[in-house]
Amino acid sequence: MVYEIQIILFYQRQFTLTSPKHVFQSALPAERGVSRCPVCKCLQSSVAGFVLENPGFSVAKSFFSYRRVRVCTGVSVMEWYAHKTLDNGVFWIQERFYESGNRANIWLIRGSHQDVVIDAGLGLRSLPDYISSKGLLGDDTKRKNPLLAIGTHVHFDHSGGLHQFQQVGVHKAEVDALANGDNFETVTWLSDREIVENPSPGWTARQYRVKAVQPTHILQEGDVINLGDRQLTVLHMPGHSRGSICLHDKDNKMLFSGDVVYDGSMIDWLPYSAIGDYVRSCERLVEMVDKEEVELVMPGHYNTFGAKRLHRLASSYISNAGTCHKVSTCAVKSVASLALRFSNSCSVC
Ligand SMILES: [Zn+2]
Ligand SMILES: [Zn+2]
Repeated sequence: MVYEIQIILFYQRQFTLTSPKHVFQSALPAERGVSRCPVCKCLQSSVAGFVLENPGFSVAKSFFSYRRVRVCTGVSVMEWYAHKTLDNGVFWIQERFYESGNRANIWLIRGSHQDVVIDAGLGLRSLPDYISSKGLLGDDTKRKNPLLAIGTHVHFDHSGGLHQFQQVGVHKAEVDALANGDNFETVTWLSDREIVENPSPGWTARQYRVKAVQPTHILQEGDVINLGDRQLTVLHMPGHSRGSICLHDKDNKMLFSGDVVYDGSMIDWLPYSAIGDYVRSCERLVEMVDKEEVELVMPGHYNTFGAKRLHRLASSYISNAGTCHKVSTCAVKSVASLALRFSNSCSVC
């Protein structure tokens, strides 16, 4: 839908009723059809509003001037996410327009009495709305509690959407960071380049913050989350962050591993990373494979993988975590901490 507004102005300055970044001007909007805004890259499928703009003509030349404009309203919730249905009542959800290695996997597990979402992405559009609109939740009559959202840790790519849920769980070591909206500990680091379609008009990465939310569930090692026909056991696996957890579905031999392990290089140079803890967590993962407790890993990033790959990833981290690695990581960690401190103090200005 395009509103063509004929604007009358007599002044040299520009007037704008909505963000000028979201104005798409076209000489023949109706004929050209839907295309991409060259400035803000918004989808043109959602267009509304109008703009008052001085054409910049001289008074003598034009007292009244006409402009046809398009104003984008951003990407809808349904467009923002996409999901894939896996076996065993698990849904794999992703944020389509966050094109970055930091894009986290969102796992929705349907239980007979309780549904759980593991990690919640950036939170740029409503994840609960998407989940319910797509009919991904189980039969309401058997559910006593609302959907529970668990953060495997509070890094922004996993925790940004947690504030959208009524029930939120994180490990006790990171409760304060989430409750206070501590964007240093959430390592918030987002660029306009990574968001290839704007989620809403006027949105810029610079303004992005993880919103504070008070967790309703404070998790610790050994806690069991009962979904009715399946249980998830909380495993505290610090190293990547101090409150990192894995959720273990023992009966189905599935491990939701967050950023503790995924099929890529592990990150141990963030402000609250700790190499010694990471080694111990990896030793635990190796032990779980040896005991045949895991067959499938649903990681925080990239694709799922099996027990052999888990064993190789965890054991190669352990063998590489020597003195050399510790020294180089220490330097990287200092630079990363400074950069995060700087960017997160600037973004609130
Ligand atoms: Zn992380
Ligand atoms: Zn992550």
